[in-house]
Amino acid sequence: MHYLDHAATTPVPQAVAQAMLEVLTKDFGNPSSQYELGRAARARLEADRAVIAGTLGCRPEQLFFTSCGTEGDNWAIRAALYQNRRVGKHIVTTAVEHSAVLACVKRLEQEGYMASYIKPDGQGRVSAEQVLSAVREDTALVSVMLVNNETGARFPVEEIAAGLEGRPALLHTDAVQGFLKVPFTVKSLGADYVAVSGHKLGGPKGIGALYIGGRAKNPLPLLFGGGQESGLRPGTEAAAQIAGFARAAALRLERLEEVGAHLAACRDYAREVLGKIPDLRFIGPADAPHILSVSLPGYPSQNIVNELSGKGIYISAGSACHQGKASHVLTAMGLNKRAAAGTVRVSFGPETSFADIDALASALLEHRNTRFPML
Ligand code: PLP
Repeated sequence: MHYLDHAATTPVPQAVAQAMLEVLTKDFGNPSSQYELGRAARARLEADRAVIAGTLGCRPEQLFFTSCGTEGDNWAIRAALYQNRRVGKHIVTTAVEHSAVLACVKRLEQEGYMASYIKPDGQGRVSAEQVLSAVREDTALVSVMLVNNETGARFPVEEIAAGLEGRPALLHTDAVQGFLKVPFTVKSLGADYVAVSGHKLGGPKGIGALYIGGRAKNPLPLLFGGGQESGLRPGTEAAAQIAGFARAAALRLERLEEVGAHLAACRDYAREVLGKIPDLRFIGPADAPHILSVSLPGYPSQNIVNELSGKGIYISAGSACHQGKASHVLTAMGLNKRAAAGTVRVSFGPETSFADIDALASALLEHRNTRFPML
């Protein structure tokens, strides 16, 4: 198998599975139970929170566990709008956000909010000036992702935060693809809300976290129930997922430079070998080390994905979340239909080898040479 879709999800290392198993079978108490088993579970959970908070550079009490990155994005957006309800109903975001943000903002438009969607340039980049010039007196929220999941473009969140100083708009960043892939701390970013997810970095699916800090005050609870997560996101904590997330984050942090260099080497090697395929185009800047988008104009991406999957090579047609629809990211970048429809995303992890990339290159070349362009 050649798994080259780490931006969709990642395998869980043995040590992560082991940490989860311990919580499921040994430290399985309810962290809210007032006896020793419960206290041990609470201690472990809070230690795990401290690990992830440390990775993000925030205090543990500023970090709230969620069920996924999508939940963190939705919560941050609603919480910011609630806090700034007297400022206005205007939202600034980009046209290339993940649907975890875009679909939420679209829904808010139906509820009476107004949104400005900043268009990227042909490389998929958005400048801080573009974002800041769309901010108005009544802008309650600016939501700009850190790393784009289709192009690997890195957005200037720090500059946007600096430009918002002294203005009421709160800043949220979807850092799901950036976390432990590009260097940052919540302080260096300057955002008020930062959403991350476990399964993009070797953690299990179904766990994420939201940093709430900076100028974010008295956050709107996501749910109402017991007192878990300071009463803001109640429900018995997903202790095993949290343990897996923390172990995965700790493992990545330990090898941050080594893994970062490996991912960048994979991206650069892929550029070299895929660049030899006639007509192949690179899409976007691939600022982040783990994502590379390429297009074979005329060759439908879903056909490429299906054929490669038959050979045990896994890549994605744009983002795994689009399921066959034209990518809003590529469309916003102004890619023509042929190039957009032929775009696939390749993404790397610590386990990726150059042999995986060689297998991909020969399968793509074979596809290009043996199929007729259909578009
Ligand atoms: N934001 C970005 C940029 C993503 O790439 C993803 C997942 O693909 C998400 C949000 C959603 O994360 P989750 O799958 O944890 O809900």
